[in-house]
Amino acid sequence: MAPKAGKKIIFSGIQPSGVLHIGNYLGAIAQWVAMQEVNSCIFSIVDYHAITVPQKPKDLRDNIVQTAKIYLASGIDPEKSVIFQQSDIAAHAELAWVLNTITNNSDLAKMTQFKDKAKVDLDEYEVALLSLVEKDILGGEEEIHRELARLKGMKSKAEIMGSLEGIVRMARRTAFGASHHYFKEYRERFNRVGVGLYDYPVLMAADILLYDTDAVPVGEDQTQHVELARTLARRFNGRFGDAFKAPAVMIRKESARIMGLDDPRKKMSKSAKSGYNYIALTDDPRSAAKKIMRAVTDSGSEITYDRAEKPAISNLMSIYSLLWNISLDEIEKKYRGKGYGDFKKDLSEIVGIFLNDFQKKYNRIGDKEVKAVLKKGAGQLKPLADNKMRVVKEKIGIIL
Ligand code: ATP
Ligand code: MG
Repeated sequence: MAPKAGKKIIFSGIQPSGVLHIGNYLGAIAQWVAMQEVNSCIFSIVDYHAITVPQKPKDLRDNIVQTAKIYLASGIDPEKSVIFQQSDIAAHAELAWVLNTITNNSDLAKMTQFKDKAKVDLDEYEVALLSLVEKDILGGEEEIHRELARLKGMKSKAEIMGSLEGIVRMARRTAFGASHHYFKEYRERFNRVGVGLYDYPVLMAADILLYDTDAVPVGEDQTQHVELARTLARRFNGRFGDAFKAPAVMIRKESARIMGLDDPRKKMSKSAKSGYNYIALTDDPRSAAKKIMRAVTDSGSEITYDRAEKPAISNLMSIYSLLWNISLDEIEKKYRGKGYGDFKKDLSEIVGIFLNDFQKKYNRIGDKEVKAVLKKGAGQLKPLADNKMRVVKEKIGIIL
């Protein structure tokens, strides 16, 4: 695939790590569909990302096919855009390795996606230690106070000095004991995490940089990762000479972060523990309605958009507005004087209409068709990827 003259190169992808949900659709795929008319678009099924958390091989195979079908059913047209499976092009993993060697721990340890998924957060660890110092909750304090009280009754200098030394020892022991407790907890969490989960933003940078991508349309949760791709592009170019273009992140504000139905403080996620977190694109309308009716609501009863004070209803209003193409103001007007129940019922209907329509298209796509599309996509991209790898190898000095 030669990039079309004067057109921007767009790259994005989704992990086949579970069933895709309306957050993936509204945050990412819906943007893509509009873009393919005027850009050179590459959309990947990033299977090497999915295995950063354990996957059953059979489920993974099914999810790869399902994700490709979802791309097609959403309107990604393989005549206009390239759709491919990441692992079909070895250069992704190869470039990730090279980029690993110019990535610092500090680039990765700050990633909020990693902190969320791995529950390993160095900043949180530091805050916990500092709070021990600030709040003086070192444990063993009672013992120290008892010794201090005893000190008041002492007369001889030797006795006082002995007691003071004892107090210092006790304070030191309790302080180290408390900080060691935190350290141990942190280390246990850190040891449990797979290296792949930590490192995956580097692979994502490789995905993006291989194709001279101009822009990456994603949900807000991926901003930091695209930022890393920019950093690594600049770092590599600075050290070895120009090889990469620094890509821009593209976020559609209204759909940047669809929140979980069961917890509006966290984003909707494929890997959420409960199916009540998300509406899957393959959910039947009845179970989707059940999830909506059971969705968490805020206190009060007015249908008003306020992300900070009313995160739950605001999230449902966003979904309503995006799927029904109606503004948030109009929704507020429409539901003035009505309650959450009325609103949720209508939203269930709207989601049902969307799902029905989507699934009609989805069910028409066969596995064979999907495999052919993926194969064609990889064939189109391989020369570009190989070419970029040749440039990289040349720059770092391994071509003899
Ligand atoms: P996982 O839990 O396995 O990480 P995910 O739901 O986060 O799954 P990804 O495959 O990581 O999905 O992300 C695919 C695309 O969907 C990315 O562009 C991401 O920013 C976007 N996206 C994911 N969740 C949401 C969401 N809740 N709202 C808007 N966009 C989202
Ligand atoms: Mg994700």
